[in-house]
Amino acid sequence: AIDKVTPWVKSTCAYCGVGCGIEAKPTASGQLDIRGDADHPANYGRLCSKGLALGETVTHDGRLQYPSIDGQNVDWNSAIKHVAAQFSDIIEQHGKDAVAFYVSGQLLTEDYYVANKLMKGFIGSGNIDTNSRLCMSSSVAGHKRAFGSDTVPGCYEDLELADIIVITGSNLAWCHPVLYQRIKAEKQRRPNLQVIVIDPRKTDTCEIANQHLALKAGSDVALFNGLLSYLNQHHQLNNAYINAHTEGFEQAVEHANKDAGDIAAVAAKTGLSIEQLNTFYRLYAKTDKVVTLYSQGVNQSIQGTDKVNSILNCHLAMGRIGKPGSGPFSVTGQPNAMGGREVGGLANTLASHMDFGNPTHHQLISDYWQTDSLATQPGLKAIELFDAIDNGKIKAIWIMATNPVVSLPDAEKIKRALKKCPLVVVSDCIADTDTTRCADVLLPAQGWSEKSGTVTNSERRISRQRRLLPTPGEGKPDWWIISEVAKSMGFAKAFTYQHEAEIFNEYAIMTGLDNAKRDLNLTGLAHLTTEQYSQLPPQQWPVLHIEKKITHKRLFADGCFFTPSGKAQFIAVQHQPTALQCNTDYPLSLNSGRIRDQWHTMTRTGLSARLGAHKPEPFVSVNPVDAEHYALQHGTIATLASPFGSAQVRVDISKQVNQGQLFMPIHWNNVTSSAGKVCNLISPKTDDISGQPEFKFTPVSIASF
Ligand code: SF4
Repeated sequence: AIDKVTPWVKSTCAYCGVGCGIEAKPTASGQLDIRGDADHPANYGRLCSKGLALGETVTHDGRLQYPSIDGQNVDWNSAIKHVAAQFSDIIEQHGKDAVAFYVSGQLLTEDYYVANKLMKGFIGSGNIDTNSRLCMSSSVAGHKRAFGSDTVPGCYEDLELADIIVITGSNLAWCHPVLYQRIKAEKQRRPNLQVIVIDPRKTDTCEIANQHLALKAGSDVALFNGLLSYLNQHHQLNNAYINAHTEGFEQAVEHANKDAGDIAAVAAKTGLSIEQLNTFYRLYAKTDKVVTLYSQGVNQSIQGTDKVNSILNCHLAMGRIGKPGSGPFSVTGQPNAMGGREVGGLANTLASHMDFGNPTHHQLISDYWQTDSLATQPGLKAIELFDAIDNGKIKAIWIMATNPVVSLPDAEKIKRALKKCPLVVVSDCIADTDTTRCADVLLPAQGWSEKSGTVTNSERRISRQRRLLPTPGEGKPDWWIISEVAKSMGFAKAFTYQHEAEIFNEYAIMTGLDNAKRDLNLTGLAHLTTEQYSQLPPQQWPVLHIEKKITHKRLFADGCFFTPSGKAQFIAVQHQPTALQCNTDYPLSLNSGRIRDQWHTMTRTGLSARLGAHKPEPFVSVNPVDAEHYALQHGTIATLASPFGSAQVRVDISKQVNQGQLFMPIHWNNVTSSAGKVCNLISPKTDDISGQPEFKFTPVSIASF
């Protein structure tokens, strides 16, 4: 029964980067009633199956409740002193780059800010990277190359204003369901809205597609270079915009022509028919309001950054950016991937979108934090970081709110690296994960519904996550744990925080230090009282004053960018083959991704029986022709092997995947299923620029188990 007296509290969903607002109310049994927040501009009351089931996932069962060292419970003071002393000793003996943090898009912005401040600002190493590296680092790199800043120009309202929505590299219906619901509703209201889905698989998102382009895995650059070349050849370009607001067009179009000047060449590279290409290109050329929405199918590739720029090039060529119903739109996977980007969670950036290699930025941050130790070099990106643990260069790692033994490619190597690392500290709210099993020190953190702070969603909107329930045992906020370790390492003056609002204010002030016109400007939120912070409604950056009403902001509408010249940059890109090729030993290409009702490594969604019913165990989708060729029966177990490892999963014969392709979900792990881990198979090859791994293409073999 619902307690009639307790009001509904507004907060934010724990899962994807749509960042839906929820309202929650504790029940008499200690769970939560959940409903969508009708006032939140991400979802206007909608929720997907995962959001609706949030209340079923708040339980004390399986929670990490007490600090421990080598399996023995200890008090917080002992744990903090131990971690600080071990980190300090290793730094003294081996240097500051012998330690690292690996953090997560599940952290709140305040947690992220403090972790980055300790590692880059006071330990003095760039070695803090985040699982967001696996999610959107190619978009970050592509944005920075084109715009001079990591800026998503548009907002969700554009999805309802567009005349064409190109959804590329995203099963939106399962991975960002509320955005899919918004597009579907708009299409019902306005049937002329054209939806084009570009994906090797015929996913559920294709249900609303006017056209599905099942391109060959990895051929996105060829497709969008073909589009740029088509626009040029058919005199469809917005020359006035190109001349006034961009640089590098000639070189980009020259590369595009070389790559794809002949539509038959594009057809050969992408596996699409000339007719399909002409239909798509013609529609794109003649329609002004186009949103290209993209996600992991673009980002998770050894050519992820180039793929992003091939999309941005087409929008720049048409001047379709920052306008209502028009623009490229990177949707992030995690609830706070964007917040982490803001405060320097990636190893190659400084806090508040400031840059390594910029002496002014370095001085501003050093003065503001009153430190003379600010890192001068970027640190190691996720895959390099775990390689450095494996080869002994990094001797202490602190992992916060993530499960890399399941989620990183070549997962067995990650486990091996952690097993031989002299110090592995893990902060988590779950006791038993593949990663906590590798820890020397375990630190209990508060989970969603217990912690308080902010997150930023894919449309740059900052929302509050609020405390709804008490924390079991001795779990603490991540920012508190990091601050206590920092104090014990001798950095007490810089980590005196008593409340998350103080951290948010410090961060918001930082965004105004350079007095520059900038995208990430939170100076309007820079001096919030605790009460204002507590009551803060969603705010979309830039924020020059607290906004009580919902606004929908776009950037770059004026054609001014954050590059040195103020002009957007076309980037000349060319199609490259995938890192590894299929061959006689590994003849099939494996794709990976999320399923509708699970999240990451299932530590939360796995607690809901309702969610578990959708796809109860790991599976591999196999085209019927391949199933016959390899003598596989639906529902039986198959063994998959790649150059990196093997996995056993149940066969799902499905026409959703084309011949020669397989699909496996990413969620299962050693705790829930001993053999269904897709990351045992995945190649650790990464994009040279972004460091993002190629999760979408690994050559594999398949055989009946
Ligand atoms: Fe949560 Fe994403 Fe579903 Fe919204 S769409 S309810 S943020 S999982």
